[in-house]
Amino acid sequence: MKKPDYDVLIIGAGAAGGILGRELSDAGLNVCVLERGPMYETKDMVMDELRFPIREDLLWATPMMGGMTWRPDARSATQKVFPRLTWWLDGWGPGGTMNHWGGVSWRFEPSVFQALDVWGQVPDGAIANWPITYEELEPYYTKFEYRFGVSGDADQILHGPWRSKPYPLPPLEQGYATNHFAKACRSLGYKPFPMPTGILSKDYQGRKRTGYCGYCQSFECTVEGKSNARVTELREALQNPNFTLLVNRYVIQITMNQPDRVDGAICLDEQGKAHEITAGIVIIGTHTFYNSWLLLLSKNQYAPDGIGNRYGQVGKYLHQHPRFGVNGLFEERMDVHIGPSESLVAINEYTENNFDHTGLGFVMGGYIYGARVAGSSGLPIEFARDVELPPGVPGWGPQFRGLCRRNLQPVLSGALQIDRSSDGRELYHL
Ligand SMILES: Cc1cc2nc3c(=O)[nH]c(=O)nc-3n(C[C@H](O)[C@H](O)[C@H](O)COP(=O)(O)OP(=O)(O)OC[C@H]3O[C@@H](n4cnc5c(N)ncnc54)[C@H](O)[C@@H]3O)c2cc1C
Ligand code: SF4
Repeated sequence: MKKPDYDVLIIGAGAAGGILGRELSDAGLNVCVLERGPMYETKDMVMDELRFPIREDLLWATPMMGGMTWRPDARSATQKVFPRLTWWLDGWGPGGTMNHWGGVSWRFEPSVFQALDVWGQVPDGAIANWPITYEELEPYYTKFEYRFGVSGDADQILHGPWRSKPYPLPPLEQGYATNHFAKACRSLGYKPFPMPTGILSKDYQGRKRTGYCGYCQSFECTVEGKSNARVTELREALQNPNFTLLVNRYVIQITMNQPDRVDGAICLDEQGKAHEITAGIVIIGTHTFYNSWLLLLSKNQYAPDGIGNRYGQVGKYLHQHPRFGVNGLFEERMDVHIGPSESLVAINEYTENNFDHTGLGFVMGGYIYGARVAGSSGLPIEFARDVELPPGVPGWGPQFRGLCRRNLQPVLSGALQIDRSSDGRELYHL
């Protein structure tokens, strides 16, 4: 039998692909990462609101791809997934979605790992226990926080899970809007705390601390103050002679030539030419949608419904980042667009099993934080694009301009984020 090209083939050079690529090549394996996007350097990054959040240069919906679309069934016309929000858009190029992420770096609470034991099954749900416990994962959370550089103060986090080490960096400075939200929380008896964030509050491991510029989420940081897999993991992995990163390689199929064993992938290069690459182990790190997409596309005689889909579960219960916000208008300026997008405070009184669920009709919960308008960097052009229009106000002309002028600076959004859940369905009732 022909020797495979690599020990390990990783599809996608984002958060998962970057970390695994470094770990496995550091361990001596011969690793290749295939990435659909082009190579980026920090010097290519600019504070250009039109180019990034509006024209979506770093995001999935590049002009080449024409945007992310969906259709409910094969006969329906395709529709854009989110015509106006950047929130759902995935990465493109080494670093993946982390290039334009906000940086918030939570740990799951221990109860999440035993979700089925703690909450039981919900009607029509698919809650399962994780195969590992928080105790087993804890050293790796710590390793991540120290590798990437996470700023936070564990002592202030209500219901924060136990940890073997403090955060490597102190929390970020808070802006006016955040302090306003924290004051309001305290006046209601809650205990707000700075959210742990993968943004450097001090210079760290050769990278500069944040400059509090505000061109943060939806952008890649121009000074590398925001941590991501490109400036930490991939930069280190590329020093290893046994690590190969191939960019502009769009994987369209995982290959299988015997039962229960994948052995490589087929990818297209920039000219659309197909290449087959073989490996002993294949890892998919293409983010939620595309992990399912690729597995379902990879049909063969041994997996007629797609790889890993013997029980029809691939892509079911898929959800990503559910978040609900309420916008408030204030007399004074909030200027939420200033500073790192996630130098925010949150309250943890309504997370997981930390409150009485009697009669509420759902399980688990979420944290609430004071934020920019949902899905937005908070900057003016994006605000104008995403702002909810009151009845009768058109999305253009003097009335629209007046609305933007009046509302951009005094707006502050309170948001509920529930992406730490293991089954979103019942939670949507919150
Ligand atoms: C605007 C925004 C803000 C966010 N903020 C936060 C936050 O503050 N905190 C937090 O924890 N999470 C945040 N997230 C989510 C977080 O970024 C993702 O959960 C994380 O990056 C997922 O890691 P991944 O490795 O699965 O995928 P990604 O990091 O997206 O990497 C996937 C990589 O695979 C590549 N790829 C995809 N398909 C193929 C293919 N067929 N062939 C080859 N390559 C392919 C992509 O180009 C990409 O580089 C945010 C997401 C968005 C969109
Ligand atoms: S706010 Fe800080 S971390 Fe965010 S992009 Fe600006 S300098 Fe970088």
